[in-house]
Amino acid sequence: MTTTIAVANQKGGVAKTTTVASLGAALVEIGQRVLLVDLDPQGSLTFSLGIDPEELDVTVGEVLLGTAKPGDAVLVTEDGMHLVPANITLTQAEESLVTRTGREQRLRVALDKIADDYDVIVLDCPPSLGVLTVGALSASNQVLIPLQAETLSHRGVGQLLDTIYDVKQFINPSLEILGVLPTMYDGRTKHARNVLAAISETYDLPVIEPAIPKSIRFAEAPAIGRSVLSTARTHKGAEAYRAVAKKLVATKPASKRR
Ligand code: ADP
Ligand code: MG
Repeated sequence: MTTTIAVANQKGGVAKTTTVASLGAALVEIGQRVLLVDLDPQGSLTFSLGIDPEELDVTVGEVLLGTAKPGDAVLVTEDGMHLVPANITLTQAEESLVTRTGREQRLRVALDKIADDYDVIVLDCPPSLGVLTVGALSASNQVLIPLQAETLSHRGVGQLLDTIYDVKQFINPSLEILGVLPTMYDGRTKHARNVLAAISETYDLPVIEPAIPKSIRFAEAPAIGRSVLSTARTHKGAEAYRAVAKKLVATKPASKRR
C-alpha cells in the first residue's frame, strides 16, 4: 500500500521544497521506495536534486495533459529518490488544465499507474491554492503543512484549511491532515515557541515534532544538487528530518490510497 503525502502551503519560502527533498532522502535511508513529484513551475525541487529543469523533455506537465505516460517522466536522483520533474512548461499546462475535464483527478489517475512501485509518494506543491495544489490534495492520503513560527506567517493557514476541507468534502474524503511542521525554527526564542502554541490552538492542528531548526546548511544543499542529509549528514537539521520521516512511516494512514 502506498502513502501519498502532499506538502502544501500557499505561502512561498516556508520550506515546502526543502521538506520534500529532505524527507524523501530520510525515507530512502530507512528503506522506503520513494517517489517525489515536483508540482511547482519554478522547478526548485528538480533543480535542488541535481537535475537541470531546462534540459527536460518529459515533465509532470506532459503527464497532467496526458501527452506522456507517468512512467516515462520518472528520473532517478543521486540521493536515491525517484522524481517526476517540473519546469516552466508547467505554467502553460496549468493554464490549459483549468478548462479540461477531470483536472483535479489527473494527477491521482497518473500516479495510480505507478504507485505500486513505491511505498511513499511526496508531492511538492506550488505557492498557490490553484488547480495544481487541489490536484495534489486530491491525489493524497495525507497533507503536511510546513510553517515558519513567525507572527503573521500563519495568516494564510485558514484559507489552506478551507481548501483542504473542500477537497475532503467533494473529491477525496480519505484525506487526513498530518499537521503543521515548524520549519526554520529557533526554539531558543520564547516568541517562536509562543507562535507555535498559538497556531496549534487557533487551528486545532497537531504540531509535528521535532521542529526543523533554522540553519544555513539548508541553503547550501540545493546548489550541490543533493539533500541536506547528504551534504551535512550529522547536522541537527538532517537529524530532525530523519526523526519526522520515522514518525511518518510509523503512522501510515488507515485508509487506502485513492
Ligand atoms: P518553499 O518551497 O516553501 O518556497 P523552500 O524549501 O524553497 O521553500 O525554502 C525557502 C528558502 O529557505 C530556501 O532558500 C531554503 O534553502 C531555505 N530553508 C529551508 N529550510 C530552512 C531551514 N530549516 N533553515 C534555514 N533556511 C532554510
Ligand atoms: Mg517550493
